[in-house]
Amino acid sequence: MERRTLGRTGIPVPRLCFGTLPLGPLQTGLPPEEGGALIAYAMDRGVDFVDTAELYGTYAHIREAARIAGRYPTVCTKSYAYDRAGARASLEKARRELGLDTIDLFLLHEQETPLTLLGHRQAYEFLLESKAKGLVRAVGFSTHAASPVFAAVQAAAAGRGAEDPYDRDFWEDLGHGPYEEVDVIHPILNRAGLGLIDGPAERMLQAASDAHGAGIGVLGMKLFGGGNLLGTLEEEAAFGRSLPYVDAFAVGMQTRAEVEVDLALFEERPIPAEAAFEARARRKRLFVHDWCTGCGACVTRCTRGAMSLGPDGKAFVDAAACVLCGYCAAACRDFAIKVV
Ligand code: SF4
Ligand code: SF4
Repeated sequence: MERRTLGRTGIPVPRLCFGTLPLGPLQTGLPPEEGGALIAYAMDRGVDFVDTAELYGTYAHIREAARIAGRYPTVCTKSYAYDRAGARASLEKARRELGLDTIDLFLLHEQETPLTLLGHRQAYEFLLESKAKGLVRAVGFSTHAASPVFAAVQAAAAGRGAEDPYDRDFWEDLGHGPYEEVDVIHPILNRAGLGLIDGPAERMLQAASDAHGAGIGVLGMKLFGGGNLLGTLEEEAAFGRSLPYVDAFAVGMQTRAEVEVDLALFEERPIPAEAAFEARARRKRLFVHDWCTGCGACVTRCTRGAMSLGPDGKAFVDAAACVLCGYCAAACRDFAIKVV
């Protein structure tokens, strides 16, 4: 497995990162023993980098993987915290439940515009202080939009007189860049631009390339469009591997067959036929139970416009627009949505 250094963090990572979202309650809900064993299996094959989030509910799975493997993978987690108290609670929860003193990468979750970044400024400052104390090694944000990435690049370039790719006046009026120290970005990156909310794939690719040039680590997500691009799996993987400015891609996996398929794709080997068959048989879909009350909370939550209320008044998903992130499931108080 090819390894890269994540931007200026100095943290070495394999190019394939184990996305743990599918293991948790938003998707398959594997018990920590089973999920942990799967992560440990991947670690044994060189995939010792995991992506999680407070929302995903997979800290126990990662801790179990570390117990089985006898060592921890590099851990990237995320939080929706926007103020100091929230960030402190999120960081302490991650350290406690993972059993780690130091979290490798701690990101703000789903920062969709530069204004979102500004609204989370307090939480970010807390994370920077935590980094200075050695509780976190690197900080940054995940996003489905290019504009906050350009903003981070601008902040990184400020003082170096670099050409401004994003609305310099706005930030100068505020007296500072939105984020002077962004170590890592975790954006949606796929060939089709699936899941992006502010422009085509080319714009995000440019933003990621600029970020890399500014020394920011780039951890891509949704290379396979959350399952929607599985029909062209090999082409999508080849595209991802060919991007020199993407240090690693987080890919969700929930079975050994999927681990084998993704390992083969990232190691440029033929996909073992049996694993391909098994993985294909497990293609995911979003399922809405008939007890849906039609409250619309999931519609509001989906930033991709993939969810609406159908003629029967119940939640209806546009499978072509849905990237199977499962975030709408977290917004449903009636537990009526499942990615299966
Ligand atoms: S949030 Fe749940 S109950 Fe409300 S519309 Fe969506 S699926 Fe139905
Ligand atoms: S419908 Fe749900 S799973 Fe699909 S993209 Fe929207 S939030 Fe994600």
